[in-house]
Amino acid sequence: MNFQEFEPDSEHTFSEDNALTGDLPQIRSLKDLISHVTGRGEEGNMTLEDSGISEPLPFPFIAIVGQMEMKLALTLSLINPNIGGVLLIGPRGTGKTTAVRSLLDLLPEVRRSKCVYGCMPEDIETAGIDAVCPDCAKKHAEGQSLTVVEQSRLVELPLNATLAEVVGGFDERARIHDRLRLKRGILAQADQSVLYVDEINLLPDEIVDALLDAAAMGFFTVRRGPLSATYRSRFTLIGSMNPEEGNLRPQIMDRFGLRVIVQGLSEPQQRLLAYRRVQEYLENRRKFIHKFNPETRISQEEIQATRNRLKEVSISDAIAQKGIRLIQQLEIESLRAEITWFETARAYSAADGRTEVTLDDLRAVAHMALRLRKSEFTLGYLKQRQQEDKLLSSSLEALLSEKK
Ligand SMILES: [Zn+2]
Repeated sequence: MNFQEFEPDSEHTFSEDNALTGDLPQIRSLKDLISHVTGRGEEGNMTLEDSGISEPLPFPFIAIVGQMEMKLALTLSLINPNIGGVLLIGPRGTGKTTAVRSLLDLLPEVRRSKCVYGCMPEDIETAGIDAVCPDCAKKHAEGQSLTVVEQSRLVELPLNATLAEVVGGFDERARIHDRLRLKRGILAQADQSVLYVDEINLLPDEIVDALLDAAAMGFFTVRRGPLSATYRSRFTLIGSMNPEEGNLRPQIMDRFGLRVIVQGLSEPQQRLLAYRRVQEYLENRRKFIHKFNPETRISQEEIQATRNRLKEVSISDAIAQKGIRLIQQLEIESLRAEITWFETARAYSAADGRTEVTLDDLRAVAHMALRLRKSEFTLGYLKQRQQEDKLLSSSLEALLSEKK
Protein backbone atom coordinates (compact mmCIF):
# COMPACT_ATOMS: atom_id res chain seq x y z
CA MET A 1 0.00 0.00 0.00
CA ASN A 2 1.20 3.45 -0.81
CA PHE A 3 0.10 6.18 1.52
CA GLN A 4 2.54 8.97 1.05
CA GLU A 5 1.96 10.18 -2.43
CA PHE A 6 -1.57 11.42 -2.37
CA GLU A 7 -4.03 12.89 0.02
CA PRO A 8 -7.16 11.11 1.14
CA ASP A 9 -9.98 11.82 -1.20
CA SER A 10 -12.66 13.52 0.79
CA GLU A 11 -15.17 13.28 -2.06
CA HIS A 12 -15.08 9.55 -2.40
CA THR A 13 -17.68 8.73 0.22
CA PHE A 14 -20.35 10.59 -1.64
CA SER A 15 -19.82 8.83 -4.93
CA GLU A 16 -19.44 5.49 -3.24
CA ASP A 17 -22.61 5.69 -1.24
CA ASN A 18 -24.83 7.14 -3.87
CA ALA A 19 -23.88 7.07 -7.48
CA LEU A 20 -22.45 3.58 -7.71
CA THR A 21 -24.45 1.39 -5.45
CA GLY A 22 -27.67 1.82 -7.31
CA ASP A 23 -29.50 4.08 -4.89
CA LEU A 24 -29.70 6.79 -7.48
CA PRO A 25 -30.01 6.51 -11.23
CA GLN A 26 -26.86 7.03 -13.27
CA ILE A 27 -27.41 10.16 -15.30
CA ARG A 28 -24.35 10.89 -17.35
CA SER A 29 -25.77 12.13 -20.59
CA LEU A 30 -28.85 13.72 -22.08
CA LYS A 31 -29.93 10.30 -23.28
CA ASP A 32 -29.75 8.90 -19.76
CA LEU A 33 -31.75 11.84 -18.46
CA ILE A 34 -34.47 11.40 -21.07
CA SER A 35 -34.60 7.67 -20.35
CA HIS A 36 -34.98 8.41 -16.69
CA VAL A 37 -37.64 11.10 -16.82
CA THR A 38 -39.75 9.27 -19.35
CA GLY A 39 -39.43 6.04 -17.36
CA ARG A 40 -38.39 4.22 -20.52
CA GLY A 41 -37.95 0.57 -19.89
CA GLU A 42 -39.46 0.73 -16.45
CA GLU A 43 -43.19 0.51 -16.99
CA GLY A 44 -43.00 -0.22 -20.68
CA ASN A 45 -40.94 -3.37 -20.38
CA MET A 46 -42.21 -6.31 -18.45
CA THR A 47 -38.86 -7.94 -17.92
CA LEU A 48 -37.10 -4.79 -16.73
CA GLU A 49 -34.13 -5.90 -18.80
CA ASP A 50 -33.78 -2.52 -20.48
CA SER A 51 -34.54 -0.23 -17.59
CA GLY A 52 -31.04 1.22 -17.62
CA ILE A 53 -31.29 2.36 -14.01
CA SER A 54 -31.06 0.39 -10.82
CA GLU A 55 -34.34 -0.24 -9.10
CA PRO A 56 -34.22 0.84 -5.49
CA LEU A 57 -36.69 -1.95 -4.80
CA PRO A 58 -35.39 -4.88 -6.81
CA PHE A 59 -37.53 -7.83 -7.81
CA PRO A 60 -37.05 -10.52 -5.12
CA PHE A 61 -34.57 -13.23 -6.11
CA ILE A 62 -36.86 -15.83 -4.53
CA ALA A 63 -39.72 -14.76 -6.82
CA ILE A 64 -37.82 -15.41 -10.06
CA VAL A 65 -39.53 -18.28 -11.87
CA GLY A 66 -37.41 -21.13 -13.28
CA GLN A 67 -33.87 -20.26 -14.47
CA MET A 68 -32.43 -22.78 -12.02
CA GLU A 69 -28.89 -22.79 -13.38
CA MET A 70 -28.65 -19.00 -13.36
CA LYS A 71 -29.95 -18.83 -9.79
CA LEU A 72 -27.63 -21.60 -8.64
CA ALA A 73 -24.56 -20.01 -10.24
CA LEU A 74 -25.30 -16.60 -8.72
CA THR A 75 -25.94 -18.04 -5.27
CA LEU A 76 -22.76 -20.15 -5.31
CA SER A 77 -20.72 -17.15 -6.40
CA LEU A 78 -21.91 -15.29 -3.30
CA ILE A 79 -20.97 -18.26 -1.11
CA ASN A 80 -17.47 -18.72 -2.51
CA PRO A 81 -15.68 -15.68 -3.98
CA ASN A 82 -12.90 -18.00 -5.24
CA ILE A 83 -15.25 -19.24 -7.94
CA GLY A 84 -14.22 -16.19 -9.92
CA GLY A 85 -17.48 -14.67 -11.00
CA VAL A 86 -20.31 -15.50 -13.37
CA LEU A 87 -21.00 -14.67 -17.00
CA LEU A 88 -24.66 -14.77 -18.04
CA ILE A 89 -25.09 -15.32 -21.77
CA GLY A 90 -28.49 -14.96 -23.36
CA PRO A 91 -30.83 -12.86 -25.45
CA ARG A 92 -32.58 -9.77 -24.18
CA GLY A 93 -35.62 -10.15 -21.99
CA THR A 94 -34.55 -13.36 -20.27
CA GLY A 95 -34.20 -11.64 -16.91
CA LYS A 96 -30.42 -11.59 -16.55
CA THR A 97 -30.22 -8.04 -15.22
CA THR A 98 -33.27 -8.52 -13.04
CA ALA A 99 -31.67 -11.59 -11.46
CA VAL A 100 -28.37 -9.85 -10.75
CA ARG A 101 -30.06 -6.81 -9.21
CA SER A 102 -32.23 -9.07 -7.11
CA LEU A 103 -29.07 -10.30 -5.36
CA LEU A 104 -29.06 -7.04 -3.41
CA ASP A 105 -31.11 -8.52 -0.57
CA LEU A 106 -29.04 -11.70 -0.40
CA LEU A 107 -25.61 -10.16 -0.11
CA PRO A 108 -23.57 -11.41 2.85
CA GLU A 109 -21.92 -9.28 5.50
CA VAL A 110 -18.25 -8.45 5.08
CA ARG A 111 -15.59 -6.82 7.19
CA ARG A 112 -14.58 -3.55 5.62
CA SER A 113 -11.83 -1.06 6.41
CA LYS A 114 -12.98 2.23 7.93
CA CYS A 115 -10.00 3.98 6.36
CA VAL A 116 -9.94 5.63 2.90
CA TYR A 117 -6.70 3.76 2.21
CA GLY A 118 -8.35 0.47 2.97
CA CYS A 119 -6.00 -0.48 5.85
CA MET A 120 -6.82 -3.86 7.40
CA PRO A 121 -5.58 -5.47 10.64
CA GLU A 122 -4.12 -8.35 8.59
CA ASP A 123 -1.77 -5.84 6.92
CA ILE A 124 -0.20 -5.30 10.32
CA GLU A 125 -0.08 -9.04 10.98
CA THR A 126 1.71 -9.78 7.72
CA ALA A 127 3.90 -6.71 7.20
CA GLY A 128 4.09 -4.84 10.48
CA ILE A 129 2.75 -1.51 11.64
CA ASP A 130 4.29 0.42 8.71
CA ALA A 131 1.94 -1.41 6.37
CA VAL A 132 -0.96 0.78 7.47
CA CYS A 133 -1.40 4.56 7.38
CA PRO A 134 -0.33 6.66 10.39
CA ASP A 135 -3.95 7.16 11.52
CA CYS A 136 -4.64 3.43 11.51
CA ALA A 137 -1.33 2.70 13.24
CA LYS A 138 -2.42 5.06 16.01
CA LYS A 139 -5.86 3.49 16.22
CA HIS A 140 -4.32 0.02 16.35
CA ALA A 141 -2.00 1.08 19.19
CA GLU A 142 -5.01 2.40 21.10
CA GLY A 143 -6.80 -0.89 20.63
CA GLN A 144 -9.46 0.57 18.32
CA SER A 145 -10.92 -1.49 15.50
CA LEU A 146 -9.81 -0.65 11.97
CA THR A 147 -12.80 -2.35 10.40
CA VAL A 148 -16.56 -2.40 10.46
CA VAL A 149 -18.93 -5.24 9.53
CA GLU A 150 -21.51 -4.26 6.93
CA GLN A 151 -23.54 -5.74 4.12
CA SER A 152 -21.67 -6.32 0.89
CA ARG A 153 -22.71 -3.99 -1.94
CA LEU A 154 -23.87 -4.34 -5.52
CA VAL A 155 -21.94 -1.98 -7.76
CA GLU A 156 -22.94 -1.54 -11.39
CA LEU A 157 -20.40 -0.48 -13.95
CA PRO A 158 -21.99 1.92 -16.44
CA LEU A 159 -21.36 0.95 -20.04
CA ASN A 160 -20.06 4.42 -20.87
CA ALA A 161 -17.57 4.52 -17.97
CA THR A 162 -14.10 5.69 -18.93
CA LEU A 163 -10.89 3.90 -17.96
CA ALA A 164 -10.10 6.71 -15.50
CA GLU A 165 -13.48 6.26 -13.82
CA VAL A 166 -12.95 2.51 -13.63
CA VAL A 167 -9.40 2.33 -12.26
CA GLY A 168 -9.15 5.83 -10.81
CA GLY A 169 -7.27 8.88 -12.02
CA PHE A 170 -6.44 12.45 -11.28
CA ASP A 171 -8.96 14.22 -9.13
CA GLU A 172 -9.99 17.02 -11.50
CA ARG A 173 -11.58 19.05 -8.73
CA ALA A 174 -8.34 19.12 -6.80
CA ARG A 175 -6.48 20.02 -10.00
CA ILE A 176 -8.51 23.24 -10.34
CA HIS A 177 -6.92 24.29 -7.06
CA ASP A 178 -3.47 23.31 -8.35
CA ARG A 179 -3.30 20.25 -6.18
CA LEU A 180 -2.47 16.86 -7.55
CA ARG A 181 -4.21 13.87 -6.10
CA LEU A 182 -5.80 10.61 -7.16
CA LYS A 183 -9.43 9.69 -6.94
CA ARG A 184 -10.52 6.12 -6.31
CA GLY A 185 -12.19 4.42 -9.22
CA ILE A 186 -15.11 2.03 -9.45
CA LEU A 187 -12.83 -1.01 -8.98
CA ALA A 188 -11.61 0.19 -5.60
CA GLN A 189 -15.13 1.05 -4.53
CA ALA A 190 -16.26 -2.45 -5.48
CA ASP A 191 -13.87 -4.12 -3.04
CA GLN A 192 -15.67 -6.95 -1.22
CA SER A 193 -18.77 -6.30 -3.31
CA VAL A 194 -20.46 -7.72 -6.34
CA LEU A 195 -19.45 -5.80 -9.47
CA TYR A 196 -22.03 -6.11 -12.23
CA VAL A 197 -21.23 -5.31 -15.85
CA ASP A 198 -24.16 -5.51 -18.22
CA GLU A 199 -23.33 -5.92 -21.93
CA ILE A 200 -19.74 -6.72 -21.07
CA ASN A 201 -19.11 -7.70 -24.70
CA LEU A 202 -19.62 -4.06 -25.69
CA LEU A 203 -17.03 -2.67 -23.27
CA PRO A 204 -13.70 -1.49 -24.66
CA ASP A 205 -10.95 -4.15 -24.33
CA GLU A 206 -8.78 -1.99 -22.06
CA ILE A 207 -11.58 -1.74 -19.50
CA VAL A 208 -12.41 -5.46 -19.63
CA ASP A 209 -8.71 -6.29 -19.15
CA ALA A 210 -8.45 -3.93 -16.17
CA LEU A 211 -11.57 -5.50 -14.62
CA LEU A 212 -10.40 -9.06 -15.05
CA ASP A 213 -6.86 -8.36 -13.86
CA ALA A 214 -8.10 -6.58 -10.74
CA ALA A 215 -10.60 -9.36 -10.03
CA ALA A 216 -7.95 -12.07 -10.43
CA MET A 217 -5.28 -10.35 -8.32
CA GLY A 218 -7.54 -8.90 -5.64
CA PHE A 219 -5.68 -5.60 -5.88
CA PHE A 220 -4.42 -3.20 -8.52
CA THR A 221 -2.09 -0.25 -8.86
CA VAL A 222 -2.87 3.05 -10.53
CA ARG A 223 -0.05 5.21 -11.85
CA ARG A 224 -0.75 8.72 -13.08
CA GLY A 225 2.23 10.96 -13.64
CA PRO A 226 4.13 11.27 -10.37
CA LEU A 227 1.37 9.63 -8.32
CA SER A 228 0.63 6.00 -7.71
CA ALA A 229 -1.64 4.07 -5.39
CA THR A 230 -2.53 0.45 -4.77
CA TYR A 231 -6.10 -0.52 -3.95
CA ARG A 232 -7.82 -3.73 -2.90
CA SER A 233 -10.30 -5.08 -5.41
CA ARG A 234 -11.63 -8.37 -4.10
CA PHE A 235 -14.97 -8.34 -5.86
CA THR A 236 -17.20 -10.95 -7.43
CA LEU A 237 -17.51 -10.06 -11.09
CA ILE A 238 -20.83 -10.75 -12.75
CA GLY A 239 -21.14 -9.99 -16.43
CA SER A 240 -24.02 -10.38 -18.81
CA MET A 241 -24.12 -10.32 -22.57
CA ASN A 242 -26.41 -10.84 -25.50
CA PRO A 243 -24.50 -12.93 -28.05
CA GLU A 244 -26.50 -11.32 -30.87
CA GLU A 245 -24.74 -8.04 -30.14
CA GLY A 246 -21.19 -9.25 -30.47
CA ASN A 247 -18.82 -11.88 -29.20
CA LEU A 248 -16.52 -11.90 -26.25
CA ARG A 249 -12.90 -12.87 -26.89
CA PRO A 250 -12.37 -16.54 -25.93
CA GLN A 251 -9.62 -15.65 -23.45
CA ILE A 252 -12.07 -13.36 -21.64
CA MET A 253 -14.78 -16.01 -21.67
CA ASP A 254 -12.31 -18.35 -19.95
CA ARG A 255 -11.56 -15.88 -17.20
CA PHE A 256 -15.08 -16.00 -15.82
CA GLY A 257 -15.50 -18.76 -13.27
CA LEU A 258 -18.95 -19.83 -14.39
CA ARG A 259 -20.74 -19.41 -17.72
CA VAL A 260 -24.52 -19.75 -17.76
CA ILE A 261 -26.61 -19.91 -20.90
CA VAL A 262 -29.85 -18.10 -20.08
CA GLN A 263 -32.87 -18.90 -22.19
CA GLY A 264 -36.50 -17.83 -22.04
CA LEU A 265 -38.85 -20.07 -20.06
CA SER A 266 -40.12 -22.95 -22.20
CA GLU A 267 -43.06 -24.15 -20.08
CA PRO A 268 -46.27 -22.18 -20.76
CA GLN A 269 -47.28 -22.55 -17.09
CA GLN A 270 -43.96 -21.07 -15.94
CA ARG A 271 -44.30 -18.20 -18.38
CA LEU A 272 -47.76 -17.42 -17.05
CA LEU A 273 -46.53 -17.49 -13.45
CA ALA A 274 -43.59 -15.24 -14.36
CA TYR A 275 -45.97 -12.80 -16.05
CA ARG A 276 -48.32 -12.74 -13.04
CA ARG A 277 -45.46 -12.03 -10.68
CA VAL A 278 -44.01 -9.24 -12.79
CA GLN A 279 -47.49 -7.74 -13.06
CA GLU A 280 -47.93 -7.86 -9.29
CA TYR A 281 -44.48 -6.37 -8.77
CA LEU A 282 -45.11 -3.47 -11.14
CA GLU A 283 -48.45 -2.76 -9.49
CA ASN A 284 -47.00 -2.41 -6.01
CA ARG A 285 -43.33 -3.12 -5.57
CA ARG A 286 -43.24 -2.72 -1.82
CA LYS A 287 -46.17 -5.05 -1.25
CA PHE A 288 -44.76 -7.69 -3.59
CA ILE A 289 -41.32 -7.59 -1.97
CA HIS A 290 -42.91 -7.76 1.46
CA LYS A 291 -44.71 -10.96 0.46
CA PHE A 292 -41.39 -12.68 -0.20
CA ASN A 293 -39.58 -11.08 2.73
CA PRO A 294 -39.49 -14.08 5.11
CA GLU A 295 -38.01 -16.35 2.40
CA THR A 296 -35.56 -13.67 1.33
CA ARG A 297 -34.33 -13.26 4.88
CA ILE A 298 -33.88 -17.01 5.34
CA SER A 299 -31.94 -17.25 2.07
CA GLN A 300 -29.67 -14.38 3.08
CA GLU A 301 -28.94 -16.01 6.43
CA GLU A 302 -28.26 -19.35 4.75
CA ILE A 303 -25.82 -17.79 2.30
CA GLN A 304 -24.02 -16.10 5.18
CA ALA A 305 -23.86 -19.29 7.26
CA THR A 306 -22.71 -21.39 4.29
CA ARG A 307 -20.03 -18.85 3.50
CA ASN A 308 -18.74 -19.09 7.06
CA ARG A 309 -18.75 -22.90 6.86
CA LEU A 310 -17.00 -23.13 3.51
CA LYS A 311 -13.48 -23.55 4.90
CA GLU A 312 -14.52 -26.86 6.48
CA VAL A 313 -15.37 -28.38 3.09
CA SER A 314 -12.62 -30.38 1.40
CA ILE A 315 -12.19 -32.37 -1.79
CA SER A 316 -10.24 -35.63 -1.62
CA ASP A 317 -7.39 -36.46 -4.00
CA ALA A 318 -9.39 -39.37 -5.42
CA ILE A 319 -12.35 -37.16 -6.36
CA ALA A 320 -10.11 -34.35 -7.63
CA GLN A 321 -8.14 -36.78 -9.82
CA LYS A 322 -11.36 -38.00 -11.44
CA GLY A 323 -12.26 -34.40 -12.17
CA ILE A 324 -8.88 -33.64 -13.69
CA ARG A 325 -9.11 -36.75 -15.86
CA LEU A 326 -12.40 -35.55 -17.28
CA ILE A 327 -10.98 -32.08 -17.98
CA GLN A 328 -8.10 -33.70 -19.89
CA GLN A 329 -10.48 -35.91 -21.84
CA LEU A 330 -12.37 -32.77 -22.83
CA GLU A 331 -9.02 -31.29 -23.96
CA ILE A 332 -9.46 -28.20 -21.82
CA GLU A 333 -6.05 -26.58 -21.36
CA SER A 334 -6.94 -23.82 -18.90
CA LEU A 335 -6.02 -24.51 -15.28
CA ARG A 336 -8.92 -22.27 -14.33
CA ALA A 337 -11.21 -25.13 -15.28
CA GLU A 338 -10.42 -27.29 -12.26
CA ILE A 339 -9.96 -24.38 -9.88
CA THR A 340 -13.42 -23.06 -10.63
CA TRP A 341 -15.04 -26.47 -10.89
CA PHE A 342 -13.72 -27.68 -7.54
CA GLU A 343 -14.38 -24.38 -5.76
CA THR A 344 -17.94 -24.37 -7.10
CA ALA A 345 -18.43 -27.97 -5.96
CA ARG A 346 -17.15 -27.03 -2.49
CA ALA A 347 -19.74 -24.24 -2.29
CA TYR A 348 -22.42 -26.64 -3.50
CA SER A 349 -21.46 -29.23 -0.90
CA ALA A 350 -21.37 -26.60 1.86
CA ALA A 351 -24.82 -25.35 0.81
CA ASP A 352 -26.04 -28.92 1.26
CA GLY A 353 -24.59 -29.00 4.77
CA ARG A 354 -21.74 -31.45 4.02
CA THR A 355 -17.97 -31.17 4.49
CA GLU A 356 -16.72 -33.51 1.75
CA VAL A 357 -17.13 -32.96 -2.01
CA THR A 358 -18.70 -35.94 -3.79
CA LEU A 359 -18.88 -36.89 -7.46
CA ASP A 360 -22.52 -35.79 -7.41
CA ASP A 361 -21.41 -32.30 -6.33
CA LEU A 362 -18.99 -32.21 -9.26
CA ARG A 363 -21.73 -33.37 -11.61
CA ALA A 364 -24.21 -30.75 -10.38
CA VAL A 365 -21.95 -27.82 -11.29
CA ALA A 366 -19.89 -29.29 -14.17
CA HIS A 367 -21.70 -27.61 -17.05
CA MET A 368 -21.51 -24.08 -15.71
CA ALA A 369 -17.85 -24.50 -14.75
CA LEU A 370 -16.59 -26.25 -17.89
CA ARG A 371 -18.62 -25.08 -20.87
CA LEU A 372 -17.10 -22.60 -23.32
CA ARG A 373 -13.60 -23.28 -22.00
CA LYS A 374 -12.18 -24.99 -25.02
CA SER A 375 -10.41 -22.85 -27.53
CA GLU A 376 -10.08 -24.48 -30.94
CA PHE A 377 -7.37 -21.99 -31.76
CA THR A 378 -5.28 -22.92 -28.71
CA LEU A 379 -5.73 -26.63 -29.33
CA GLY A 380 -4.65 -26.33 -32.96
CA TYR A 381 -1.77 -24.09 -31.98
CA LEU A 382 -0.51 -26.52 -29.32
CA LYS A 383 -0.74 -29.49 -31.69
CA GLN A 384 1.26 -27.60 -34.30
CA ARG A 385 3.92 -26.71 -31.73
CA GLN A 386 4.15 -30.33 -30.63
CA GLN A 387 4.70 -31.41 -34.23
CA GLU A 388 7.25 -28.67 -34.66
CA ASP A 389 9.14 -29.80 -31.53
CA LYS A 390 9.07 -33.40 -32.73
CA LEU A 391 10.52 -32.38 -36.09
CA LEU A 392 13.15 -30.29 -34.33
CA SER A 393 14.14 -33.19 -32.07
CA SER A 394 14.40 -35.71 -34.89
CA SER A 395 16.38 -33.28 -37.08
CA LEU A 396 18.73 -32.57 -34.19
CA GLU A 397 19.19 -36.30 -33.53
CA ALA A 398 19.97 -36.91 -37.19
CA LEU A 399 22.48 -34.08 -37.28
CA LEU A 400 24.21 -35.19 -34.07
CA SER A 401 24.49 -38.85 -35.14
CA GLU A 402 26.02 -37.73 -38.47
CA LYS A 403 28.85 -36.07 -36.58
CA LYS A 404 29.92 -39.19 -34.77
ZN1 LIG B 1 -5.54 3.60 7.26
